Amino acid sequence: MLHSGVKAPGGFESLATPVYRGSTVVFPDAASVREGYRPERDGWTYGLYGTPTTAELAARVCSLEGGAGTVLVPSGQAAIALVNLALLKAGDRVLLPESAYGPSQRLAREWLPGLGVEVSFYDPLAGERIAEGMRANTRLVWCESPGSITMEVQDVPAIARAAHAVGALVAVDNTWAAGVLFDALAHGADVTMQALTKYVGGHSDVLLGSVTAKVDAVVDRLARTRGMLGIGVSPDDCSLALRGMLTMAVRMEAHERAALAVARWLEGRPEVERVLHPAMATCPGHELWMRDFTGSCGLFSFVFREGVSFAATRAFVDGLKLFKQGYSWGGVESLALNYDLRGAEGARSAHGFRVVRLHVGLEVVGDLIADVEQAFMAIRA
Ligand SMILES: *Cc1c(COP(=O)(O)O)cnc(C)c1O
Repeated sequence: MLHSGVKAPGGFESLATPVYRGSTVVFPDAASVREGYRPERDGWTYGLYGTPTTAELAARVCSLEGGAGTVLVPSGQAAIALVNLALLKAGDRVLLPESAYGPSQRLAREWLPGLGVEVSFYDPLAGERIAEGMRANTRLVWCESPGSITMEVQDVPAIARAAHAVGALVAVDNTWAAGVLFDALAHGADVTMQALTKYVGGHSDVLLGSVTAKVDAVVDRLARTRGMLGIGVSPDDCSLALRGMLTMAVRMEAHERAALAVARWLEGRPEVERVLHPAMATCPGHELWMRDFTGSCGLFSFVFREGVSFAATRAFVDGLKLFKQGYSWGGVESLALNYDLRGAEGARSAHGFRVVRLHVGLEVVGDLIADVEQAFMAIRA
């Protein structure tokens, strides 16, 4: 009554990836008992280090990103933390773009200095000028392209050349591109991570992150650190991400088409000073997007023209009916957030409170444009 001997019976072949739950993995005999934190190399040793379900998702993300190996963690932010903790030690220096994801900046400011790691921020548009900021102890350079909220597209190959010249590794937060629209490892990155929470999950119902490295030695450092920190992932969550991956291509194409339609409509509006969509010439780094990316997704921002009050920007997002307000994105629902960047690092603070970030979901595009239009009308009134 207690012991399960269930295995897939012969002849049963489902199209779906089964969910294998398990902490303990049973070894056939004493001689086979071993340790190991990388199932693809060490075999199955313990649930924390991988099950067939989690390994299947890791393998698919790895093939998407074109790396040597992928480790999974419970969120995109955990992926960022893992990269920092695995690749940095006391005395090292890390560089982050001023446009980095907020919680990534917070970790760098509030946690890493306590571990003896020196933290500096750089202009996301620095390109090869970043070489001037490199020092002998610079060990890791983060890129996020396009940047969170302000959407600066970065010259990753130029930044990677400057970083590699001093022996630093380059990590790219590849969440916007979902590992699809930008081949980070082929453009000079050593490590690429993404929040699978976004387009891979795709339905706002799961939190997961991945870290993929170009060479095996770095995969090993990441996998080993992940094991020591004990941050495993649930096979049930991985199953949701595996399901999301099946429709990712058609969803991303639909998000891209709809977001471009909304962005082009916004460009013609008198309320709008500038649309920050990487596929549009008004976005900083647009020419790099043209050079390095194969497409765009549903996420972009726009800036209200000067003179629009803080109360009006807030009334605009509060006036939206189809667009909801909330963190995260990549699901089927449209989202809008108004950001106050007055205290932000670097040039992005010039936008003040006038930035609105939109995630264009899979609703009917005409309905979404009508929704934005009625919210504009309301603030005019
Ligand atoms: C959402 C996001 C993350 C964090 O992902 P979570 O799974 O929500 O922790 C990291 N980087 C970027 C650019 C993101 O948009």
